[in-house]
Amino acid sequence: MINIERALVSKRFIKAASLFFRYSTIPKLMNLLKAEYERLLRRSTLSSRPYFIKIQPTNICNAGCMYCLKQVKGDDSPPGKMALGDCKKIIDRFKKYAYLIGFQYSGEPLGNESIFEMVEYAHQSGIGTYLSTNLQEVKDGDCDKLILSGLDLLTIAIDGITQETYGRYRQRGDIAKVIENMQNLMSAKKRLKKISPFITLQFIVHKYNQHEIEGVRQLAKKTEVDNLELKPIGAMDKAILPENKKLYRRIYVKKTRLKRKACWWLWGALVILWNGRVLPCCHIVTSKTELNAFTDDIFSIINNPFNRQVRGQSRREVLSDAHPCYGCLVPYGGILQQTI
Ligand code: SF4
Repeated sequence: MINIERALVSKRFIKAASLFFRYSTIPKLMNLLKAEYERLLRRSTLSSRPYFIKIQPTNICNAGCMYCLKQVKGDDSPPGKMALGDCKKIIDRFKKYAYLIGFQYSGEPLGNESIFEMVEYAHQSGIGTYLSTNLQEVKDGDCDKLILSGLDLLTIAIDGITQETYGRYRQRGDIAKVIENMQNLMSAKKRLKKISPFITLQFIVHKYNQHEIEGVRQLAKKTEVDNLELKPIGAMDKAILPENKKLYRRIYVKKTRLKRKACWWLWGALVILWNGRVLPCCHIVTSKTELNAFTDDIFSIINNPFNRQVRGQSRREVLSDAHPCYGCLVPYGGILQQTI
């Protein structure tokens, strides 16, 4: 279940472990064990519930990233924002068993005006919370609201420290604004005397920013974020891969002997889009089910024919290129990360 290599290098993992103990209850633990048992047996139909939920506050984004999931995978879902009432409904339905809710999926979460109330409601419901943002658009008072919401983990995605490199990947992004917002956020955290959220600066390393690794380390120290993660790019476009092969994702290492494991997403997680549509994970952007998390029964959702089919086919060691998981790195141990 645990990738030791990752555990050893990631401060965020240690933080995540502390959240596990903080938010654990007997029903959650029993459900987690059941989910892992079903994963071990690679069952297609589950009697456990998801212990991790990813909610999409909105699918609207302001960054225009190269390799944006929407464009790469041809996701044509209509633009929109989840209503606060719908989000609360989801939290109420899953709170007995969920350890963590991630508020981000293919869109900028701070673009939903209700995001702070959503996080606060999840926190008050006894669920750990995580949010990832490009921190481009922060209105007056947003830094205080984010910190006071009870958010546990915050990732700020920044992939360059100069406009030239940052703008190459996040094509509508402005690095000066991001750095200013980061500084305001850190000042607010100090002023409010809060230890949460645990703030990670995430830097996706590619060919055009690999020379800025030392610079981003300095930026992390200067702004006093809690953690810096250098994340190898997952692009299949070899033209953008960094020259240093240690920064590749493992899948690029030829003749790998890594064994394919049963992916925990299929047995323990669920992605819920702004309109209630569901996906089995972050990488499978098109779901064949019309079931809706706002209204339909939880077991019908997690055991819908599409999810069962993907689980069933995932028993095989080698997947055909028609399988929705084909080419995904997660079952091979995920990513190599470097942490300061
Ligand atoms: S696409 Fe990847 S993360 Fe998603 S279920 Fe398949 S293996 Fe897991």
